[in-house]
Amino acid sequence: MMSSLLRRVLGRFEGPLRYRLSGAAFGGQKPAILMYHRVAKPAVDPWGLAVAPERFREQLSALTKARKILAMDDFVAALTKGVLPSNAVTITFDDGYRDNFTSAAPLLAEAAVPATIFLTGDMIGRRDGFWWDELARMILLERGPIRYALILAKKHVQNRIPAMPVTELPDQKWRAWEIPRTERQAAYRELWELLERVPPSERQKAMADLRRTAPPVPADADELPMSAAEVTCLGPGITIGAHAMTHQPLTSLPPAERQVEIAESKVLCSRWAGRAVTGFAYPHGDCDPETRSMVREVGFAWACSTRAATVDSKNYDLFNLPRLSAPDVTGKVLLRTLNRAST
Ligand SMILES: [Zn+2]
Repeated sequence: MMSSLLRRVLGRFEGPLRYRLSGAAFGGQKPAILMYHRVAKPAVDPWGLAVAPERFREQLSALTKARKILAMDDFVAALTKGVLPSNAVTITFDDGYRDNFTSAAPLLAEAAVPATIFLTGDMIGRRDGFWWDELARMILLERGPIRYALILAKKHVQNRIPAMPVTELPDQKWRAWEIPRTERQAAYRELWELLERVPPSERQKAMADLRRTAPPVPADADELPMSAAEVTCLGPGITIGAHAMTHQPLTSLPPAERQVEIAESKVLCSRWAGRAVTGFAYPHGDCDPETRSMVREVGFAWACSTRAATVDSKNYDLFNLPRLSAPDVTGKVLLRTLNRAST
């Protein structure tokens, strides 16, 4: 999942103005690492994590025709040898959602396109899902009145939201980096920003308190993480990478806990992969020089952040590789976005 800051920045640049500005200044193709999360059509998607299956198929078809698609390890090998083609693209998925197994993997196999999936170690096989999705179900999908009073990050947070009018539908289009259009959207964003950086124990307590405010909206099975059995059946074109254990922003943790998050995820993901995993993705894209050193010292060969840029073949950090978030757009628009993205 991406940081709120990044999403806000991306939100500013995803309009037509971006095409006009960067199209003139940055013509030509540049190597890029694409970042996906889900291939699905969720009822709400505040972080824009999902690409619809038919769009994903179309994107793979367009990429296959216009670009050189490489597996991530081959992309990195070519980059370090100085022979990475300017039209190279590689595909990554973060978090380990079940729809990666049910929807993305079959479409990738159909198109004969390789991909890397970064798994959140502790979440694999869990039936309660990712906290940000549960929060979205509780606040944005639940239609009944919501009332809560919490202390989060030493701040009193309280709210009383009336029932959603019967004429109102959950807003699939609203994104959390946009101005909230409803009380529920404002509440979701406020809670997300506080919950993101508090310690896991504080987050779990707050989520338990929130669960008592309204009857739970059940998760769609594909919104949950994959099981370990599904991970091992992803197919030969899929490479496993690690995404830490709990998805806590790593720089919010003391060094010893950070080390455990990184090292344990390598052990666990290597077990599922049946070989030593080489790649890591920082949860929320959150990293600093100390964290990058830890990832290197644990034995990873490269790591991805969520800095939104193409890869500069002449000036790169293998432990801070930028990625471009793949939006839910047609193949044609995706290619145009890629061609106009800057390093
Ligand atoms: Zn993530």
